[in-house]
This record gives sequence, structure tokens and C-alpha cells, in this order.
Amino acid sequence: MLNQHSFETCRNQLFKSVGWTCCFFVLLFFSLIFSVFATSSSQSVRVGVYDNQPKVYQDDKGVDLGVYPDILNYIAARENWKLNYIHGTWEEGLRRLKKGEIDLMVDVAVSDERLKEFDFTKETVMGSWGAVCADKKTKIESLQDLNGKKIAIVKSSVYLGGEDGIDIYIKALGLKVQFIYVDEYDQTYELLNKGEVDAAVVSHIFAIASQKNYPRIVRTNIFLKPTELRFALTKGKTDNLYLIERLDYWVKRLKDDEGSVYYKSLENHGLTAAITVQEVHPKWLLPAQLAAAIIIFLLLLFIIWLTQKRSILINKFRSLFESMTEMVVLHEMIYDENGKAIDYRVIDCNPAFSDMTGIPREKAIGAKASELYGTGDAPYLSIYDDVVKTGHPKRFETFFKNLNKYFDISVFSPSPGRFGTTMSDITDRKNTEKLIESRRKELEKLAQSEEEAKKAMLNVMEDFEEAKLCLEVGKTRDEAILASIGDGIIATDPDRRIIVMNKAAERLLGWKVNEAIGKLYDDVVLLEDEKGTYVPFKEKPLHKAFDSRVTTTIATLYLLSKNKIKFPVAITVSPVILKNKIIGAVEVFRDIAHEKEIENAKTEFASLASHQLRTPFATINWYIELLLGKDVGELNAKQTKYLKEMYHASCRMVTLVNAILSVSRVEMGKSEIMEKPTNVVRLIETITEEEKPEIKEKNLEVEKKIDKNIPQVMTDPEKLTIVIENLINNSIKYSPVKGKICVNLNLKGNTLMFSVADSGIGIPETAKPQIFTRFFRADNAKAQDPEGAGLGLYIVKAIVDLMGGKIWFESKENHGTTFFVSLPIKLTSKKL
Ligand code: ADP
Repeated sequence: MLNQHSFETCRNQLFKSVGWTCCFFVLLFFSLIFSVFATSSSQSVRVGVYDNQPKVYQDDKGVDLGVYPDILNYIAARENWKLNYIHGTWEEGLRRLKKGEIDLMVDVAVSDERLKEFDFTKETVMGSWGAVCADKKTKIESLQDLNGKKIAIVKSSVYLGGEDGIDIYIKALGLKVQFIYVDEYDQTYELLNKGEVDAAVVSHIFAIASQKNYPRIVRTNIFLKPTELRFALTKGKTDNLYLIERLDYWVKRLKDDEGSVYYKSLENHGLTAAITVQEVHPKWLLPAQLAAAIIIFLLLLFIIWLTQKRSILINKFRSLFESMTEMVVLHEMIYDENGKAIDYRVIDCNPAFSDMTGIPREKAIGAKASELYGTGDAPYLSIYDDVVKTGHPKRFETFFKNLNKYFDISVFSPSPGRFGTTMSDITDRKNTEKLIESRRKELEKLAQSEEEAKKAMLNVMEDFEEAKLCLEVGKTRDEAILASIGDGIIATDPDRRIIVMNKAAERLLGWKVNEAIGKLYDDVVLLEDEKGTYVPFKEKPLHKAFDSRVTTTIATLYLLSKNKIKFPVAITVSPVILKNKIIGAVEVFRDIAHEKEIENAKTEFASLASHQLRTPFATINWYIELLLGKDVGELNAKQTKYLKEMYHASCRMVTLVNAILSVSRVEMGKSEIMEKPTNVVRLIETITEEEKPEIKEKNLEVEKKIDKNIPQVMTDPEKLTIVIENLINNSIKYSPVKGKICVNLNLKGNTLMFSVADSGIGIPETAKPQIFTRFFRADNAKAQDPEGAGLGLYIVKAIVDLMGGKIWFESKENHGTTFFVSLPIKLTSKKL
């Protein structure tokens, strides 16, 4: 409220000067209105009043006085109202107003609650706020000081209840206060004066007005709820619109006029202080004003200094502009009616521009760019326009057609709608760049062909890498294959040094591959025969293969591993021949211990079986011979024939059994050479004599070329008989009827040479390699004699080997065969 009054005061002061000027017209206007209303009948207005000195009260004679009656009387006189004051207490007044017993009530503070119950004028008659008053001596400075105090307050006071009521604050702060409720402000002061209460809540207007009568009571610092005091009217009455409009009109007028009855009444009732607020100047105001004056003064000085400086600067810039070696040109944009930039014009240029372009300043100024430079084209226009509009400088390079030069241009905008350009001639640089560019393109072409060459090179390298990889993979694959072969493999170079050895060889020999590689074959592979004698260098299959240049196979040797473990091996060695030159050999070998075991078991079985068969066959033969000899009686022809058949078969069986026995003996090493002086010539004679029936049967011609001077020799006659008998027997067997057989015996040094030649069926080429193997028979032999066993030559070979001799043959199918035997005449007895 204080602020509102200040404002109003100021406003009044402002209007004061113009007020008098309008005064005459206003008075004229009012007199006209007054005369209009004066003619009409007066209106009765019932006004509720109560005692609230000095705003409204009754004197001793019952006349209603105070600020409100003064105002109302003034208005009533002008509005031709007949005022009827109805006096009562504040509470009574409000009650009457509610019931419509009065038309209006004075001095009512506006609140939200009351706005619901009454209509109000809009113009505030007076502002008011609550004041907590107390005895001078009582120290009450804040709401907290009210704790435990007794406070007198009007029952329906606007300062009680609602959002801002004192009771609400007291409650919110948790204070204990005893309120003493009364009907009038006077009563609160009386109680306070008597000391029955500690404080009283009244309007500040009442407090000011009561200062004279209650000098000891003062206003504390506690202010409550600023309110507006207006006229209240009975809610919703039809006359209200008229009354409110007129009351507001007059109150405003009176308030606007400092000399009005309103101000006079306030003055008369000592209430000027209540609404006139003395302008309080804060302490800091004067120094602030002084400081502001000084700042303004200094600012003025600064502006003057700046202006001078600017003119100095402008001069400086001008001289700089003039003396710059770089071209500087100021331009102005030219826009069409749609605001689109279409060209630009030169405003000024420096001497450097004229010097370098040859365009005099007078000619340049005012000229359009399109004419001057031959530009003015869209891209640059938009750049310039952009700089002009945004103020952001830009830089680019361009070619001025008319000048036939390249320029590096920096654009800036010194003032709205204008732009300046600094231009450097970069024609030389541009030409150099062009030259460099063409050189670069040439180089690029060169580089391209170089690149292509590089690519081709890379392709070659890739192929090479691929090939290398293939080789490596191949190598790895070969190694893997080699490693996975179950038989031992050793390869040597021509010097018989080991160059390859697989895992199986490593396992069998007990030598690590890494250790063995590079060593001599003979240092790694030790071979023995069955009797435990080391096989000499020359007899080793590897060396034999080197010497003979053919694949050599042997299955009768024993290998001695690094750990001295002995086991039988089957060895095959093949020479590696390249361009008819031996570049190494490959030896493949395997452990045949298990095979040997099976073989031995078989031989043992054969030996046992044949041995057991010999006796029954001997008995059979003996009885047949007895029968055929007619020792037990005569036989008829049929019986004799059948017995002969039986005898023949039995004899064949005996031969077979003997042969099997011989074989098994040889194989089991049980066969021994029993040397004794032997007449070999006679031995041959005997055998041929025994074979006579067969020779006769076939009508064969037998020729004997026997050296008669051959002495007796130390040999095993039984075994030699087996050899000679088998060879002569075969020659008879495989000769045709009337064939020719030739038996040769001679001595060459210490070697006895024996051979049997026939003109028989011969041995087919395919059968030759297997002639000395067990049970082998050539197809042509099977056709000729189905009864053969295929064991004779096997036994013969074994005996010759045992006797230290050699056996071989020459044969041509259908032409005949010759078997040769050479035997050293100094024989030794050895076990196999
Ligand atoms: P067999 O004579 O019982 O068949 P051998 O061991 O004595 O068994 O001979 C083996 C094979 O050698 C004969 O089956 C035959 O094919 C061949 N053979 C041996 N001697 C001669 C020969 N004089 N003429 C032709 N073939 C022969």
C-alpha cells in the first residue's frame, strides 16, 4: 500500500501542471451534469456507519462525522442523493448490509471472503494494514515476542483468519497467545491502556488517529495484511451498478485532486500521515547519484576521446589504405527489386589497385563489376552477398576475364550493404600450379605404368610363393606318407650315407632319425645270420643292390638294433638309378618274427605228421609185396592188378612223405652233412641203373659223360644221392618218349661239376624265378605229370646250399632243360 500511495502521489504531481488547464472545462462539464441531475428527484441512499474515529464516528449530538461522511456528503450533494446514516457497531453494520437493510457500508477492507458476501466499489478510498500496538515499555519487535502475551482484537477483524491472519502466523510459529475478542478498535486500546492486555491489533489508520489520546501506545514493527478500504454494497442489488460507478468516479476524482475535500478531511482528522508517504531517500541515493554523474561525465570524456581517436584512426586507415601494396577495393552491392544481388559497384580503391590493373581511380569509382572485371557472375555474387549479410569474412581465388589475371581475394564487410576486397595477383602462381599439375599428370601416367609393372611383378611373386607352398605341401605330404608306412625305410646316397629314414625304421633300428641321418649305413644297420655271425659288408643286401644294380630281396637275416635286440627281417633293397647312374638305394625292411614263428610251427607239424606216416606205409608196402610174391597163395589176374595199383600209390605216398620229412628237416635245421669217402661215379651209375625201368618205358636215350678219373671225395653220399636222383628223375619225367638225356660229371680244380640235360618240355620263362620254391610246379609240368609234389628241387637246392655248392639251370620251353650243380670237393659239416 505504501508503494501505491507513492505512485499516486507522483501521479498527482505529474497531473498537477496540466490539471489547471483542464480545470475550466471539467467544471463546465460538471455544472452541465449537475444541472441535469438537479432537475431529477433525489435518491435515498442508506449508509451503514460505526465508530472508527477518525474515519467514521458520531459526535455527542448524533451527527455522523469523519473522512467517509465528508466524502459521501460531498458526493451526495453532487449526485442529489439523500443520505440516511444508520449507526451501529461494525458487526451490526455488516449484518444489515448482508440483509439489504442498508445500501452501502463505509470503510470495509476487501478480502476474498468478503467479496463472496458483498459487492465492492473498485476505487480504493484508503489503503490500510494491520498494526500490532503495545505499550511503549513493552518490548515487542517480532511475532516471537508475542509468545505468552494477551492480545486484544476485533472479533470480525480482517486481520484475523484467512491466509494472512495473525492467528495463522501465531499458530504456524507454535506460539502461545491468548486473544481477547472485542467489537471495536476503541475497546482494544482501552484494554491495552488499562494493562489488561499486552498488545492490540488495529488498523494502522486507527493507530495513527489514536496517537493523541493514547500517547503511551505505539505501533510495533509487526505489520499485518495490507488491505484496501472501499465501500461495500449488498450483494447483487440492482442499484449497485449505478452506485458503484458514481462512487468510483467521485473517489477517483477526489483522490486525483490534492485540494479536494478528500485531502482536506484527511488533514482535518490528522490522517495525512496515513496516506501521504514521505519520500524517503535511501542513504546511498546521494552518493549513487554523484557516482552516476561522475560516470556520465567520464563516459562523455571517453566518447569525445573515442571520436578523436576514430578520426585519427580513420586518417591512419586512409593513409594505410593509400599506401598498401596490396589492392584494396570497396564495393557496394546492387540488388534488384526482389532483393536479389545482381551486381556490385566500386566505391573506392587504393592506388595499388590502379597501378596493378591499370584502371584509374576516377574510372573505377562508380563502375559496375561486370563491366570493370568481366565478373559479376552468380557464384561470386552470392559469396559477396553472404559476407555483406552475415559479416563473416571469406577468401577465394578467381579469374578476372577483363584483366586476364588470377586474384586471391579476401572479402570483408566494413559496413552494411558494403564489402571490401583485398586482392593479390596470383597469376604467376596459378600458371606455375598449372605447369605442376600437367607435370603431375605426366608423372601419374608414369607411376601408373610403373604400378602396372609392379602388379605384374607381384603376380609373378605370388605365383612363386604359391609354387613354393605347393612344394612345401608336397614335401610335407611326402614326409607324412613316409612316416605312415609301417615298414622301415632307409634311403642312402651313393656313398651309402643315410639321407632318409622313416618312423618305422626309427622304431625297428632303435636309432633316432636325427641321429641316423648323415651316418654310414653300415654303422646303423647291423645284420646277422641265424647262427649269430655278422653278415659281411659285401653280403649285405644294400651293397648287393649297389653292385648288381637290381632289386635284391632276402628273408633269412637277422637285424641287430641299437639296443642289441635281434629279430628276423625281410629286406628288399632297390638301387635308385638316374640317367643310368646309381644315385642311391632304398631299403625296405620289416620284422618277420611272427611269420617265422608260424612257419616253424608248420614245419614242425609237417615233420611230425610225415614221420608218423612213414611206419604205416612201410607196413602196407611190406604186406602188398608179400601178397604179390605169392607167399600166401595164388592171386588171380585181377587181384594182382589191383594190388599193383595199391603198391604204386603207396610207394608214391612214401616218396611224398619222405620228401616232406626232408623238407621239414632242412627247414628245422635238423639236416646234417654226414661226410664219408664217396665214389660219386659209382653213385651215378647206381642211380641210373635204378631208373632203368622208367628209361626203358619211355624208350629214352641216355648218354653219360663221366670223367673216369674222378677220385673218391669226402661228401654226404645220402644227400648227394637225393640231389642226383631228383635231377635225373625230373629229366626222365619231363622228357618225351624217345627223348635224350645226357648226364655229365667232371672235376674242375676243387669243384665237382655235375649236370643233367634233357630234351623235354622245358621251363616256361614265367616259371623260372619260382623253380626252387616249395610246392611250385609249372603248368606244362602239371599237364605232363599230374602226380608231382613240387618239393624235389626245393630239397635239392637246400642240400646243395648246405654242402656249400651252387645249383642253376638253363631251359627253353619245348626244347629241353639242363640243371647244373657245382660242389666244393673239400666238404665241411655244418648245421643250418
Ligand atoms: P615235381 O617234379 O614233383 O613237380 P620238382 O621240385 O622236382 O617237383 O620240380 C619242380 C618243377 O620244376 C616241376 O614241376 C617242373 O615244372 C620243373 N622241372 C624240374 N625239372 C624239369 C625238367 N627236367 N624239365 C622240365 N621241367 C622241369
